[in-house]
Amino acid sequence: MAAMDGDRLFELRRRAFDTPGFRGLEFIEVEAKSIINHVPGGGMPFEWTINPYRGCSHACTYCFARPTHTYMDMNTGRDFETKIVVKVNAVERLRADLKARRWKGDHIAMGTATDPYQRAEGKYRLMPGIIRTLIEFANPFSILTKGTLILRDLPLLAEAAGAMPVSTAMSIAHLDHEVWRTAEPGTPHPRKRMEAVARLNDAGVPCGVMMMPILPGISDDAAGMRATVTAAVEAGATFITTGYLHLRPGVREEFMGWLAAEHPGLVGRYETMYPKVYPPSSAQDRLKRKVAVMVQDAGGLQPREHARFSLASTWRGPRSGTAGGTGHDAAVQLALDVE
Ligand code: SF4
Repeated sequence: MAAMDGDRLFELRRRAFDTPGFRGLEFIEVEAKSIINHVPGGGMPFEWTINPYRGCSHACTYCFARPTHTYMDMNTGRDFETKIVVKVNAVERLRADLKARRWKGDHIAMGTATDPYQRAEGKYRLMPGIIRTLIEFANPFSILTKGTLILRDLPLLAEAAGAMPVSTAMSIAHLDHEVWRTAEPGTPHPRKRMEAVARLNDAGVPCGVMMMPILPGISDDAAGMRATVTAAVEAGATFITTGYLHLRPGVREEFMGWLAAEHPGLVGRYETMYPKVYPPSSAQDRLKRKVAVMVQDAGGLQPREHARFSLASTWRGPRSGTAGGTGHDAAVQLALDVE
């Protein structure tokens, strides 16, 4: 079976596993022709990305990468969460890409489409090889994740951060147990993620918090947001960036189905707030101002070199000028078509 990966073909070798720790997941191994992907258009704060996996067992209900699975005749729902495409030759391809004469050593962003520290990484262990290779070539990089598995690679990341510009970001929209359990059921608990932020920063690996996507009426309560901001500041977050959910076609159907089941009373509000993909820019601006005040109230952020994750708040939405990104989803807006 062949599938498109941007403009590169790769071969799919379908193998199903049912082993302890990975029950319910099917891994589809592919040989990628290339691993560094170019993000066209200049609308993002980064130009180059690596995403070793397609699909994501973290299963966030709002995930904007879901439509990427339809390119391979799989659906945006359970298939996206359980049929994970693994670029098994990622490290080998990375070495070849970095060696190529045309490669200029630009910053590479990881976690822009799907999470590099999802469950599959526990089995395939692609990230240590990727990080080691980037260190070898002194190539700057950043990682966005919801996976506390990133701590497995802490010594390597600390080594990288000591040698070149490296930054990380943990996606933590809210610390609430119920929001987590229902909206991000495959992810580590947000308090564990916050602990990871502290451990990364303590080890000298700059780590910020992507406090997004905020779900109107679900995770935008002032007390809960203040608790998240305060915990992030205490964890030494190098930046905190926030933004409301956006709902692009393909994701909207999944999300609204979830909303109708979990929060039926909010369906009308979302239909009013989201006539299109983005909520009103005035709402986004109010949210950002509110969080900025909370950050100051919590004591402010410590400025550090290479602190800002390349995906973060400098991005204002795909040519719309209206909205900030939402964690992995920010990048997917444009990276969707190339990875
Ligand atoms: S939002 Fe990120 S962590 Fe959640 S399912 Fe999508 S890629 Fe995975």
